[in-house]
Amino acid sequence: MRVTFLGTGSAMPTGERFQTGVLVQEDGRTLLIDCGSGVLHRLQQSGVGYEAVSTVLLTHHHLDHVSDLLPLMKARWLAGEDHLEIVGPRGTKGLVDGLLEVHEYMQGKLELQVREVVAGEFSVGGFDVEAYETRHSLRCLAYRFGDRFTFSGDSEAFAGLANFADGSAILLHDCSFPDDVDVSNHPTPSQLGAELADVELGRVYLTHLYPHTDGRHAEMRDSVTAHYDGDVRFAEDLQTVSIE
Ligand SMILES: [Zn+2]
Ligand SMILES: [Zn+2]
Repeated sequence: MRVTFLGTGSAMPTGERFQTGVLVQEDGRTLLIDCGSGVLHRLQQSGVGYEAVSTVLLTHHHLDHVSDLLPLMKARWLAGEDHLEIVGPRGTKGLVDGLLEVHEYMQGKLELQVREVVAGEFSVGGFDVEAYETRHSLRCLAYRFGDRFTFSGDSEAFAGLANFADGSAILLHDCSFPDDVDVSNHPTPSQLGAELADVELGRVYLTHLYPHTDGRHAEMRDSVTAHYDGDVRFAEDLQTVSIE
């Protein structure tokens, strides 16, 4: 399995990190998780391209996770790739209907399959996935791909989510701000480290990085590893991780 971090930023631009997008590939199957602003561009830069993405799995509906959904649809339509499956939490049908209502000229251009999922196991784009409800300001699902990859989506750090990820080779986790930012709905590095203290992971990548984190990576990593005794790194846009 190959996981590519297309966008490791958040709702406020850093100038270097685009909004959330993660590409999961295995045996010729390709799945895009989230499609925030800039992800369409990163897809092109990654060499995979929007033509290869016929399934999008959404963690939740905040703008920084869905902004490029309609641009993806339009690019696919223009390229003659006339279908797209969009899978996400409750409300995904309403989101897609709403987007098409605003941009009326896109109606009927693509053969769309929209599917809503809840916590538990399901299959998407040929991948077996398990979903877990996170703690965020909007309904959000974390996704786990067997013992290889878990993505937190947007979430506070809490024991339930840490246990959900336990045993994953790679955990990609929201770590939006440094410790001195007073935040809810996202974790600080200390909180994340404390919740991960008792779980076994191959490696943790921190993502969803706000501009507040610029120049403070070493300090943030120290905050996580003060509690969690494992391999912790910062995710970068267009970085690919191969998982056995
Ligand atoms: Zn969010
Ligand atoms: Zn977000």
